[in-house]
Amino acid sequence: SIPLSFFGGIGCASKNGILVKGSNYLETLSDVKYFVFDKTGTLTKGVFEVTDVVPAEGFDKDNLLEYAAYAESASTHPISVSLKKAYNQKIDNTLVDHIQEIAGHGVEADYNGHHILAGNAKLMKLKSIDYSAYTKAGTLVYVAVDDKYAGCIVISDIIKDHAKEAISGLKSLGAKETVMLTGDSASTAELVAKTIGIDTVHSELLPADKVEEVEKLLAKKSDKEKLAFVGDGINDAPVLSRADIGIAMGGLGSDAAIEAADVVLMDDDPLKISLAMKISTKTLRIVK
Ligand code: ADP
Ligand code: MG
Repeated sequence: SIPLSFFGGIGCASKNGILVKGSNYLETLSDVKYFVFDKTGTLTKGVFEVTDVVPAEGFDKDNLLEYAAYAESASTHPISVSLKKAYNQKIDNTLVDHIQEIAGHGVEADYNGHHILAGNAKLMKLKSIDYSAYTKAGTLVYVAVDDKYAGCIVISDIIKDHAKEAISGLKSLGAKETVMLTGDSASTAELVAKTIGIDTVHSELLPADKVEEVEKLLAKKSDKEKLAFVGDGINDAPVLSRADIGIAMGGLGSDAAIEAADVVLMDDDPLKISLAMKISTKTLRIVK
């Protein structure tokens, strides 16, 4: 039978916007020593601003944004949402066809008789596009039209207000290692990690690479020490399930991530992770 105070713990968590899907997760939470984070939407707001538009010869800033926005018409990725907002015009869905989202790369679609690619350097390489790499920091969306490089849109995200405090809070609760796993570029990832105090960074990862990194950490730690993964995205579902405990951002988070998670933070606030741990420790003290 489940001790009554567990219900108290789950209730207390829920009053604080922390949805715990079972009393066993309260127990696991208090033993977490390894915290693995996704970047976009988890430690950063996931709301990108366009900071530069660099068209290649034969293109201009307006049509570059238009091609990108149309190619992104069906995607719910934070990058896509931000590009469509920057385009700021109504998208006529009847002009777009054969849309394909390629996880960890970007999107592909036919628009108005043209074949469009929009995504990172990995996508350009995958499709053998002769692109010119942009060297300044930022998250880059390269665009190709009919297999010809059309330019680059530079976007930048904002670190969440509580991210730094959240990481230091977890360390004071006894975290042994904090890790960031991201599909974004090394320069952006390292800047965020350094700013908020994350110990280890792995960048330019595909969803399967994230699972592999979590498995390496799982093999390294003792059985008693638990590993939590905290994420928000569509592509985070496999890694959320693989961790000892999966924590999802409930606001920005995709349905798949919320479904796969054991704990959901309703307001996307990373400070709630340490609060959840404190509630779990307190609950266990009452039970024992
Ligand atoms: P993360 O949440 O760690 O950034 P994702 O797997 O969601 O990881 O994305 C990894 C990278 O793939 C992004 O940083 C971006 O470069 C590229 N990408 C993914 N989806 C899109 C998209 N819809 N449009 C453009 N680029 C994308
Ligand atoms: Mg993500």
